[in-house]
Amino acid sequence: MRDEVVLNGIVLATGLVGEYDRRLVILTKERGKITAFAKGVRKTTNQLISKCQIFVMGEFTLYEGRNAYTLKSVNVKEYFHELTFDMDKYCYGSYFCEMMAYFTHEGDRATDYLNLLFVSLNALKKGLVPVPLVRLVYEIKIMDVFGQGIQSFGCPICGNDKLSNVFDARSGGVLCKNCVDKGVHPVHISEQALYTLQYINGAHLGNLYNFKVSDGIIRELTDIYREFADIYIDKKFNSLQIINSLT
Ligand SMILES: [Zn+2]
Repeated sequence: MRDEVVLNGIVLATGLVGEYDRRLVILTKERGKITAFAKGVRKTTNQLISKCQIFVMGEFTLYEGRNAYTLKSVNVKEYFHELTFDMDKYCYGSYFCEMMAYFTHEGDRATDYLNLLFVSLNALKKGLVPVPLVRLVYEIKIMDVFGQGIQSFGCPICGNDKLSNVFDARSGGVLCKNCVDKGVHPVHISEQALYTLQYINGAHLGNLYNFKVSDGIIRELTDIYREFADIYIDKKFNSLQIINSLT
C-alpha cells in the first residue's frame, strides 16, 4: 500500500508526459515545491483534467512514492479562471508562478510563499490595482520574502538608517548619507519611490495591494528593480520573454 497525503497548494506549472499523463509542479504549504504525476488525465473520460491546470489552488490528495507523487484527487478552492481568459493576466500570472518555482524547493515550509502567490494572483484577478503595479510589487516583495530584498530601511554598507536619495544595486539597496560616494553605479531615487519601496518591503501580505501610486513612480521603481534583479537573479524567465515580446 502506498501512503496517501493531503497537501494544500497552488499549481505552478504543468507539462505533458507520454500519451495520457500530465506532470504538475505544485507549491505546497506543508512540503514546499513538489512534482506530481497525474496518470491518465488526458484520456477523454477523465474528470481530473480541469483540476490539473496552472493557478489551481486547493487540497491535493497524493500517493507518496519513493521518488515522486501521484495525484489521486483535488478539492479545488480556487481556479483563477479570470486569469486564463485574459491573455495579459495569464502571462503575468504565469510569470509569478515561474518566479516562485525559481525561488522554492522541496522541503520548504512554504506558508508565506503560498500566501504571497495567492494575494498576488488575486490582485491580478480583481484588477483593482493596475497590472504593472501588481507586477512591480510582486517582484520587490518576493525578493524580500526570500531574504534577498532591496535594502530600504538601513544602509546595505554600514547599517545606518539616515538614508540618502542614492540607490546602488551592487551594494544591495539605498545608501546612507555617509556612504553615497561608495556606490558602484549610483542612481537617484525620489523620496516617494523610497517611501513606496519601504511600504512594499514592510507590508503584511494582506495589505500588499492596498495602495496606488503614479505611473512615474511605477516606472522609477521598475528601473530600480530591473537593475537589482539583473545582478541577483541568474535566470531568464520564459514567461517574461513572452511578456516582453507582446509589449
Ligand atoms: Zn552607509
